[in-house]
Parts: sequence; structure tokens; C-alpha cells
Amino acid sequence: MSFLFTPLAALAGTAGLLAAGTCLLSLHNSRQPGSRWLTWLMAAVALWGFGAAMELSVQDVAAKVVWSKFEYLGTLTTPVLFMLLAADYNRLERLFRRRTLALLFAPPTVCFLLALTNAWHGLIWTSFTPSPAGHNLLIYGHGPAFWLGVVGYSHLACLVAGLFLLRALHIFPRQYRGQAWLLLAAALLPWAGNFLYLSGLSPLAGLDLTPLCFALTGVVLALDLFYFKLLCLVPIARAKALEAMGDGVLVLDPQGLVVDANPAAGQLLGQPTLSLIGQPLPCPALQAALETADAAPCEVVVSGTRFTVLDVRLHRLHEGDLTLGRLMVLRDITEKRLTEAALFEANWALKARVEEVQALQAELHEQVVRDPLTGAFNRRHLEETAATRLAQGRMSAAALVLIDIDRFKEVNDRHGHATGDAVLQYLTALLQDSTRTDDIVCRIGGEEFVVLLPGTHAEEAIEAVERWRQRFSQVPPEAGLPFEALGFSAGITLFPLHGQHLQTLLEAADTALYAAKRGGCNRVCLAPLPNQSATVPAR
Ligand code: GH3
Ligand code: MG
Ligand code: MG
Repeated sequence: MSFLFTPLAALAGTAGLLAAGTCLLSLHNSRQPGSRWLTWLMAAVALWGFGAAMELSVQDVAAKVVWSKFEYLGTLTTPVLFMLLAADYNRLERLFRRRTLALLFAPPTVCFLLALTNAWHGLIWTSFTPSPAGHNLLIYGHGPAFWLGVVGYSHLACLVAGLFLLRALHIFPRQYRGQAWLLLAAALLPWAGNFLYLSGLSPLAGLDLTPLCFALTGVVLALDLFYFKLLCLVPIARAKALEAMGDGVLVLDPQGLVVDANPAAGQLLGQPTLSLIGQPLPCPALQAALETADAAPCEVVVSGTRFTVLDVRLHRLHEGDLTLGRLMVLRDITEKRLTEAALFEANWALKARVEEVQALQAELHEQVVRDPLTGAFNRRHLEETAATRLAQGRMSAAALVLIDIDRFKEVNDRHGHATGDAVLQYLTALLQDSTRTDDIVCRIGGEEFVVLLPGTHAEEAIEAVERWRQRFSQVPPEAGLPFEALGFSAGITLFPLHGQHLQTLLEAADTALYAAKRGGCNRVCLAPLPNQSATVPAR
């Protein structure tokens, strides 16, 4: 086999080397997204380039045809691999399933078999003519399988690849547009090379620049993938972020039809995501939110398979003044609202419980400070409240009245203990009825009562107690007591005149009461003034 190494063979070899180098680089960066198909693509281009270099170097026509067949391994697979790489930019994983891949590589496989067996049918090559341009070039006459399976299919794959890249460009953020255009230019290179070869406009007839163009494309793609990393990462990250988001996102056209939705939106609305596309919003509450709350966030209750409370936010999508549609973001706040409701309920129950306990406590306190028979305050209350109020000087003046029912023992003895109790209750009611809210009526024992009258002076006190005595002495028939007349004796002391403390006042009142009893009962006596030796009978 004789060789003639021409500059054109060197050019093809350069393409092969370039592709092999990029292939190794891609292999080195195999963890980067997109590297898998770039590795395969560059391996194919390298085969193509080296095959072409050999084909351009050997002089024998038969040998050239053999190398052409070898070269076809790369030529046929390159466009499909290019398409798969472009699909990777769009994250179209479903194209990479084994069955789809087998289908995509079926035409190249058939064409390769046809190339191997061309001598029998001539479906790929019909003739081999040395190029008039020299340079050891061979012009191949092409058969129908070449135009259909090689050119047709390759161009179709390249077209799809171009469209995929265009689509990827469309979703690139604005700041990456520069690199994106570079990528598109790289995608167009093989087309240009192939057009030159097929149209016969190649600088030298028979010279195919396509592998070189593909190698250059590979370099640009490698740069994009491994140097400008974000070029492929950002759009993928964005699309992935939308897919992975817990919030539902719906893109609506100006008519309110759903044009895009992420899986979370489908989940929140209880429908398959795809079934949302092209339809109006699936629930009337959301539709209403769309019509009313254009900017302000609102809450919507969706009761589908499960009760859901959604926080709905709308954003206008616009380019200048032109409204392109709206973005609806749905956040599931059901748990939050349910927790709030449960908390409110628990709080409410707790408040009721506290009120209940407080009421019980008040009731208990009442029981502790009240006399169960008459309902009047007891001695304890007098000591706690009145003593404190007197000691703290919270009263400027006060009268303390000590009352003792006259001959009460006789009542018990003659009419029974129950009647005695009824008399005690009657006097209590009378005293409570005749006093002000600030006054304190206490039963301090047996048939003895103390009434504390804050802010009351001697005369007012004597007048008041006298009134009570008279009322008590004339028992009305409706009282249901078997008496027409009852009587009590009372001793009055004055604060601070007779003493500063409860005990002193009680002692002085007792003296006055004793004087009243001694004076013949059923009367009211004022305790003697400090400079007097005897009690002053009020009656
Ligand atoms: P004086 O005119 O001197 O005050 O005589 P008195 O009978 O009223 O007083 P005395 O101290 O001799 O008797 C008081 C009676 O009060 C004796 C007791 O049985 C009765 N007594 C005490 N507590 C109660 C009670 O809760 N109910 C009834 N029914 N009687 C009571
Ligand atoms: Mg007594
Ligand atoms: Mg008595």
C-alpha cells in the first residue's frame, strides 16, 4: 500500500487529533453534566478525522474505499451523538432510554452495513473517480442509500440538534446570551462544512471539511461545558429548581389558561400536572383569586380529595407594557392554619379552664370568709379585710357597730333552734339590706354581729343603727317569724377616736354593748369618749 501524505490529509488528521484531545478532556471531566455525549461525539469525530486522514493518504482506490468504510463509523454516528448532546442541554432524559437509543442508531447501523457491502449493490457509492484537483483526492459517486440514509438522516439529526440548542438558548438567562450565541454558531459549523462538500463548492473537489467542522464544534462545546460551566448548569438548575420546588407554580396566559405547571402545582390541586396544561384554573376559588386579587396575596380553600388552604400569589409577566401572562405561586399553608386553629382552640379551652378555676377559687374564698348559715361575712373576713384597711389608714373615719340579739336563748328555747336560725338570717338580711356596698356585715359568733361603716361619723352611725334596731323590733308578717317584736342591743365605736386597731375598737364596742344591755336591752350605745368615764346612751 503506497502513501502520499498531503496537506489535506494533515488537515483531516488535525481534526482527528483535535477531536481526540477534546474527547480526553471530556473524559477527564466525566462528572460534569453533558460530558457523556460530548465524549462519545468527539470519539466518533476522531474516528472520522483519522479515517479521513488515512483515506486521503493512501493512493490505491481500493484502500481508499476501505478507509472510507472505516471513516463511516464516525461519519454516521456523529450527527446522532450531536443530537443527543443537544438533547442533554434540554435535560430530555427520555431520549436516552435504551430502546430509543437503539432506534436512533438503527439507520446509521444499516448504512454502515450497506457501506461494508457496497461492492454487491452500490447503494452507497456508485463510482470512484480520482479528483481532477489532484491532492490524492477521490471523488465518490453517491447512490440512493447515501442520500437517504447518510445525508438525509444526518441532516435531520443535525436539524433536531440545532433546534434543541435553540430551545436551550431560549431558556438561558440574559447574562449568558453571549456564550449561547457562540454555541449556536458552533452548531451551524458542521452544516456549513457539509454544505460545501455536497454542493461541490469545497475549495478542492472531493474535500470533505465536515469532520474538521465537527471537531471545532466539539472544542466550542467543551469550552461551554467545562469552562463556562454555568452555560449548561444554570438553565438546568433553574428548570430543576422549578421541578423540585415545594410551592406550586402555574404560568397562565393572558386568557387565564395554564401554559405551564410544575409537579407541586399538580399535587396541590390534586390533578396530574399534564392535565392542567391548556385548561383554565381547575377550581373556582382559584379562578376568583385570579380575577380579584391581582397583586395582593390571598388565601384560597381547595376542597378536593383533601382539604387544603393555599396561599396564592400572582405576578404579572410582562415585557415592557405588554402583558405576557401571569405567574401564580401556590403555597400549602393547611398545616399552619390547622395548627393555628388547634392552638386557638386549646388557648380558648385553657382560658375557660382558668376562668373556671378562678370562679372556683372565688367561690372557695367566699366559703372561707362567709358564714354558711346567714351568708354574712365571718370573723376571719373582718380580721383580714377590716383590720388591714384600718391599719393601712385607707379609711379616714369609720364606725364599728357590735350587735347582740337580746334574749336569744329564749327564742331557741321557746321556738326551737330552726326558728333561732331564721331570726339570725332575718337580721342578716335586714343589715345587708340597710347598708351600703362598702359597709361590711359580719356574724362574729352566736347571735353577735359586727357592722363596719367606713366614712361614717358618730351621729350618722347612731342614726343608722337606731333605724336598724327599729326595723328589727317590728317583725313584718311576711318574715314568717312567730314574733311581733324582737330586739337587739348595739355598741358603737369610732375610728380613730376610740382606737386605731380592730381589737381596740371591738373591746370599746363590747363595753358600749354591755352598757346597752345594762341599760335594759333593745338600745344603742356609743362607746364613751376617751375623756368620759361612762357610756353615752343613745336612747
Ligand atoms: P342576752 O340578752 O344577755 O344577750 O342573752 P342571750 O340569751 O341572747 O345570750 P346567751 O349568750 O345567753 O345565749 C346565746 C344563745 O345563742 C345560746 C346559743 O344556743 C344560741 N346560739 C348560738 N349560735 C346559734 C346558732 O347558730 N343558731 C341558733 N339557733 N342558736 C344559736
Ligand atoms: Mg351574746
Ligand atoms: Mg344575746
